[in-house]
Amino acid sequence: MPKVNYHTHTARCMHAEGADRDYVESALAGGFTTLGFSDHTPWRYAGDYVATVRMAESELPGYLDSIRALKAEYAGKIEILCGLECEYFPAYLDWLRETARTQQLDYLIFGNHFFPSDETAPYFGRSTKDAAMLRRYVDSALLGMDCGLFSYLAHPDLFLRSYPAFDANARAASREICRAAKRLSLPLEYNLLGARNNERYHIDGYPHEGFWRIAAEEGCTAILGVDAHIPAHLADPKYWDAGLARLRGLGIELTHTIRLRPWEDGPQ
Ligand SMILES: [Zn+2]
Ligand SMILES: [Zn+2]
Repeated sequence: MPKVNYHTHTARCMHAEGADRDYVESALAGGFTTLGFSDHTPWRYAGDYVATVRMAESELPGYLDSIRALKAEYAGKIEILCGLECEYFPAYLDWLRETARTQQLDYLIFGNHFFPSDETAPYFGRSTKDAAMLRRYVDSALLGMDCGLFSYLAHPDLFLRSYPAFDANARAASREICRAAKRLSLPLEYNLLGARNNERYHIDGYPHEGFWRIAAEEGCTAILGVDAHIPAHLADPKYWDAGLARLRGLGIELTHTIRLRPWEDGPQ
């Protein structure tokens, strides 16, 4: 299977490092044939909120220009795609759809980090500690998967980074998410930044064994995502190979392709 990664950040999000070019060079060193950039999307907030984990809307043209220049420069060596990682923020979704269209993005991936917006809600990766927040995580995941804009769900098991146990609620939440992904033919991302953090911090966060067992049972399709915030992670085969081996061990179907520009399908 060709080595492809659609989950790559840039320093614009303020918690990644390196130059855009460094990610391409590192991906080449790592043997990737396709590198998709999917930095944290900006949003056009209604109020004066200023996010600290994503580029400003004014930085979007520079991001697109930079990735497209690299795409042209590296043509024939590696395929470069231009996307964004986005939450499901109902009030701002029309802006996102319009932006995807007018800016001719290749794809959007769904990172269910906050809901209904980061203006008011805490980060699911730190705050999903009880059944009520878990419900909110699942509701947001289902709405986002259903909206038709996204090519896959990134780190579907993000809630297990803060949810205290893989209890009946966590199992039911996992099953609900997996069934929706299956119904919509949306791949679930096995997140390699999470795998790195599990090992580094000796935690059982995400990817979570229990979640992926359920994903395999439900017949879901998995896709590996590096979630690179540091260029060197793309050149390091360790977590890629381990993730692949784990998924193959679970017998889950793997894909390396995603739907590009799904917003062009049918009337919106
Ligand atoms: Zn990030
Ligand atoms: Zn990401």
